[in-house]
Amino acid sequence: MGISAGAHRLWAHRSYKAKWQLRLFLMICNCIGMQDSVIVWVRDHRCHHKWVETDADPYNIKRGFFFAHVGWLLMKKRAMVKEYGSKIDISDLTSDPILAFQHR
Ligand SMILES: [Zn+2]
Repeated sequence: MGISAGAHRLWAHRSYKAKWQLRLFLMICNCIGMQDSVIVWVRDHRCHHKWVETDADPYNIKRGFFFAHVGWLLMKKRAMVKEYGSKIDISDLTSDPILAFQHR
């Protein structure tokens, strides 16, 4: 719920809108998912879609099936991922007080 319905569908792709009660619930579910804060997850996911299968893709499948699905969570990000990640607009996320609280 926290990753699929929250970080991915709601915050990364803006597939639907949610009132603060649902956003709070999904943020708590996202914490249980232990894949970093929504802000970090969505920034990485937007990088993934923008630069898929390049060295700027945080889950680059060319680094292997395991890395693309689990390994990216266990390793430090490459310099190019950090550099390109800083170019992603996440102002919609940082302006959400629920996400800012979770990130802090
Ligand atoms: Zn996606």
